[in-house]
Parts: sequence; C-alpha cells; structure tokens
Amino acid sequence: MSGGILWTSSSDERMQLYGGGSRLLGNVVRRAYPEAISWLKRQGIKMSGARKVLSGFGYQIDIVEYLEECRRTVERTEGYVVCGTSVQSLLKGRSGEIVGVRTVHSDGAVDVHAPYTLLATGGYQGSAELRARYIHENARNMLVRANPHSSGDAIELALAVGAQTSEANRGFYGHLVSRSPSWGDERFFSLLAQYHSEHGLLFNENGYRFCDESTGDHNNAWWTVFQPNARALLLWDRRVQDRYATASSIPGQPGHDKFNVAMDHGGEGRICRDHADLLAFANSVGFDGERLIESLADFNIRAETAWETLVPPRTEACRPLNQPDFYALVVYPSITYTFGGLTIDANTRVLGPEAVPITGLLAAGADAGDVYGQGYAGGLAQAMSLGIVAAATAGW
Ligand SMILES: Cc1cc2nc3c(=O)[nH]c(=O)nc-3n(C[C@H](O)[C@H](O)[C@H](O)COP(=O)(O)OP(=O)(O)OC[C@H]3O[C@@H](n4cnc5c(N)ncnc54)[C@H](O)[C@@H]3O)c2cc1C
Repeated sequence: MSGGILWTSSSDERMQLYGGGSRLLGNVVRRAYPEAISWLKRQGIKMSGARKVLSGFGYQIDIVEYLEECRRTVERTEGYVVCGTSVQSLLKGRSGEIVGVRTVHSDGAVDVHAPYTLLATGGYQGSAELRARYIHENARNMLVRANPHSSGDAIELALAVGAQTSEANRGFYGHLVSRSPSWGDERFFSLLAQYHSEHGLLFNENGYRFCDESTGDHNNAWWTVFQPNARALLLWDRRVQDRYATASSIPGQPGHDKFNVAMDHGGEGRICRDHADLLAFANSVGFDGERLIESLADFNIRAETAWETLVPPRTEACRPLNQPDFYALVVYPSITYTFGGLTIDANTRVLGPEAVPITGLLAAGADAGDVYGQGYAGGLAQAMSLGIVAAATAGW
C-alpha cells in the first residue's frame, strides 16, 4: 500500500519542529537513515533521485521489489518467511528475559527460540478499542487508511511481560478525506486525501477555525478528531484550486482535481459562487453558516493586515481566501498509523518498569512509541532506521 517514498527530516531541528516526538528517538531515525539507504543500495533496490518531501528529502523506492529482496535475504541465510502466522505469546527464560515466541499457524503452534525478538506489527490503528483508549473516544469510528491487521498485538504481547507504553502520546499519522461509500478500497486512500488542506481553512460545526492548517494535512487530520462529530468543513478558493488542489502531491505523478474526485465518489461538497452560497451550503450540512462566514471574513482581514493576531495562528501559507469560486467540502480524519506505542531506548530495546530494558525484546516501526508526537517525518524511515538499529543491537 505504501507510496514507497523513503524520506525523513533534513536536520535535527526540523525533525523536532515537524516530527514533534522524542528528541532522542527522532535523532536515532535521522542518524540511522544513511545506513538504511546504503543497505538498500547494496541490495540493488532501484531508487529515484533525491527529492523534496515535506520537511526533508527522500527517494522513491519500489516497495514490492524491496519486500521481495527482504524475503530473499532471509532465505539466503536458510531462514523462512511464513505468512499467515500470528504470535500468541512471548516466551520467557529463567531470569525473565525473552527467549522467543509461540506462533500460531494453520499447521499448529510452533515455538521459535531466538536471543532477540523484534516486535514490528505496525501499530494499533486497526483496533477501534485501542484507538478510543489511547487517542480519543471520537477515534473509535475513524476511517482506517492502512492494512486491517495492525491492531496493537505487539502492545498487548509486550504489556503482558511488563513493557511500558507511551500513553501520553495520542498522535497518529493520517489524512483528511471526503466521505465515500467506496471507502475501504485502498485505491481511494490517496485519491480521496485532501493533501492541499494546508492551503485552505478548516471550520468545525460551530463555524470556528480550530488549528493552524498550514502545518500539514496530517496534522489537520489529528486536530479534526477532537472536534464535534470528528468532522470539519474544508474551504479553499480559486487560487488554491488552480495551484494546489489539482496539482500532484508526488513529483512525476499526475495530479487530480481533488474536488471532482471527492464529488464523483459520494463526497458532500459544493462549488460556491459567493458567501451567500457558502452560508447556505454550510447550514445544509449541519455547520453554523453565519459564524463560518464571520470567521472567514475575520481570517481574511487579519491575513492581510494583522497576521500576528491570528488565533489559531498560521505558521506557513498565510493568504486570504477571497478569489471565487469557493470550494467547500466536508472532511473526516483517516488514520494510517499510530505514534503512541512501546517505550524503547536509543538501541530499540523495549523498556520495562523504571525504564530498565527487557532483555531480548526489541521494537521498531510503528510499534515503537514516541518517535513522532504531533507531527510526522516519514513512516518508512521510522521502520527502516529503527530496524537497522535493532539489527545492530542483536549483533548484526
Ligand atoms: C496508503 C499508504 C501510503 C503510504 N505511503 C508512505 C510513503 O510514501 N512514505 C512513508 O514513509 N510512509 C508511507 N506510509 C506509511 C508506511 O507504510 C508505514 O509507516 C510503515 O509501513 C510502517 O512500517 P511497520 O513495519 O511499522 O509496519 P507495517 O509495514 O504495517 O508492517 C506490519 C506487519 O505486521 C503484520 N502484523 C500485524 N499484527 C501481526 C501479528 N499479530 N502477527 C504477525 N504479523 C502481524 C501486518 O499484517 C503487517 O504486514 C504509507 C501508508 C499507507 C497505508
């Protein structure tokens, strides 16, 4: 499913500003990234030239070829990759160290013994219960734009042997999408995502702005979960439509008219000629149209003459939306993967009570908590960099 853009922040400062998680773990991802890229090159994985991505740079890789090469690497050393296998429990040694796992497969249960066990089940976005517990009650019914199997198994397995979770971290990576009866078909995960929301304005049902839209659509998705009925009205004008909402978000790939795509697949939206039209549409979909128009007028005046007084502020693109037509679309947050996971140290060792590592137990990727907070600087980098560090901890 992944777009295969292996990127991360271009400096520690940007990682902190845009990743927003633990400084220690953000730096671990950045420090191990060159080794991850170099390993890929040694395996002969094809890569694009370097390109700008959000707060950093990265490369497009062929993700399917990459996964196949991972499989071949395991098999070259006489290992096995066994799909359709789940883990029932972690096996403990005499001193409480982890010595392997009990796996469950259609052929039966098999104990696999190893000096190190790496948990990498991809986060807990697939579990409505855990989303409600760790993020917010509104997250229970959130749309999932990810594989359906990552439902927090690693967290449950590790909690059973005394691991700690970063419970304060309610962050996740996702995007705002229009509603569609076709949701669930993975082709729509990108097609319906409103990446250009960072150039528009978001209003909640009460007609108020509620976040700094300009810090990125992934942040906007997060903020929207906490709004009434976990939805928002996304507004943009002709300038944003021409420049961003119809442009490709990935260099070299074709752009789509995001409004048209949303409407063709059941979205709730309208192209409004003027404010009266916008007011009527907002009221018709359950938003406070009068207040929304006031909020828009207030934003437009301040954006041109008093940007420093904007509440919520505007960190990046700060331009009025005053060029009709106005595009109004009701949007919902969708989740790709979660940031709150198992507490680890800089060597990816899972920590138990009083931050003491649980011997033999490692975590990487989305199962490793606190790498990002309210932000994002690459999901594949988080998986690959921490994977490289975990391999080193295990003696590679
Ligand atoms: C549509 C889409 C586009 C994306 N594009 C990008 C992109 O361009 N760049 C980027 O950096 N990131 C992107 N991402 C995010 C990126 O794919 C993830 O951040 C990354 O794959 C996470 O890696 P992981 O190893 O932690 O988990 P995953 O890659 O999700 O792997 C976890 C695996 O564990 C399996 N699993 C779960 N539970 C169990 C269990 N109990 N037993 C056994 N197996 C289990 C799951 O089935 C899954 O195969 C995208 C994601 C999506 C959905």
